[in-house]
Amino acid sequence: MADLILVLNAGSSSIKFRAFDAGPAEPELVLHGQVEGLYNAAKFSAKDAGGALIGERRWEPDVALGHQEATDYIGDFLRSHRADHRLVAVGHRVVHGGVQFTEAARVTPTVIAALDRLTPLAPLHQPHNLAPIRTLAEARPDLPQVACFDTAFHRAQPEVAQAYALPDSITRLGVRRYGFHGLSYEYIASVLPAYPELGAARATLAAHLGNGSSLCALAGGRSVASTMGFTAVDGLPMGTRCGNLDPGVVLFLMDHLKMDARAIERLIYKESGLLGVSGISSDMRTLLDSDDARARFAVDLFVYRIGRELGSLAAATEGADALVFTAGIGEHSALIRERVCRAARWLGVELEPAANAAGGPRISTARSKVSAWVLPTNEELMIARHTRAVVRTAA
Ligand code: ADP
Repeated sequence: MADLILVLNAGSSSIKFRAFDAGPAEPELVLHGQVEGLYNAAKFSAKDAGGALIGERRWEPDVALGHQEATDYIGDFLRSHRADHRLVAVGHRVVHGGVQFTEAARVTPTVIAALDRLTPLAPLHQPHNLAPIRTLAEARPDLPQVACFDTAFHRAQPEVAQAYALPDSITRLGVRRYGFHGLSYEYIASVLPAYPELGAARATLAAHLGNGSSLCALAGGRSVASTMGFTAVDGLPMGTRCGNLDPGVVLFLMDHLKMDARAIERLIYKESGLLGVSGISSDMRTLLDSDDARARFAVDLFVYRIGRELGSLAAATEGADALVFTAGIGEHSALIRERVCRAARWLGVELEPAANAAGGPRISTARSKVSAWVLPTNEELMIARHTRAVVRTAA
């Protein structure tokens, strides 16, 4: 009988899940899927490790399937589909661990209360992340649950990298740079040693370019600096988020357009970035396929900002030895990689076009002073690893 770890990634309108066999040295994917369209016309689908469809269901809009029902449904599906397994633990992606959680944590009532208190720091994500944790804690109190944080990996950064130049009374409220995408960068850091050149690199700049995008400087397997700050809206322009913004702009919007916090939140999280600048789409593929000048400018701005921020991170690490691309755009768009590498030529990156077109892993020439790479990220595997480690330590 196989021991399974279930990984849940709950958002506002979906729960993504992956089940891993916890037995082998590295947890092995068994099946994965999602429930989308929560509180609307929900839809469940599941695939096996090879990508074959193994389950599908749709609900009428009037059913309004919520997080609790979706969590129950995933549990029932797992039980009926894999009768030969034992569910040994559930690992959750939790966006915010504040300053307190510097590593993955076994869920207890005290931990749930502490994570709940962090909701004001991530109001759009934290409550959704916590929903399935609460459901399972109530329904299956004996089932070990582990919270894995997007912020934890960055807590190793030097204090100056985490601080804002604000009065201490404000900093003490938790207003500091947390950095996000930590599970992705931690996974990338864990695979670097598999490539001798990357294993030997003193500093590596990693670019997680997806719907959400950020950069992180890695040294000695740790995060040294990153582009996301107090929230995941800071840093690079993203699909719909604006990235770096002079706080004076926010004051201007309040004073002159009389926008309140919710209106500004909508603007900077949902209506900006690639979507806002192009007026066409938040999807990089759509923009790259478009002849519209606004689409071109949105992509230009995206690449320009990545180039500027790479410079900032390279300054924090006093030079870099490698550049790693990951996530949807980073893994799949040879054109964006080419343009970013051109913006990083001054750093010593020399692209090998054929290797880039082939998708890597190494995409720089042999003589490139700074090597460039494509390494697929795997946040869910990172969660499965943490979950297994925490449960084993506790056993
Ligand atoms: P998320 O941050 O939601 O996990 P992903 O990492 O899946 O998102 O990234 C989604 C982004 O990747 C979208 O902008 C999509 O257009 C882009 N993308 C995926 N494949 C390609 C491709 N072949 N070329 C350009 N962009 C791509």
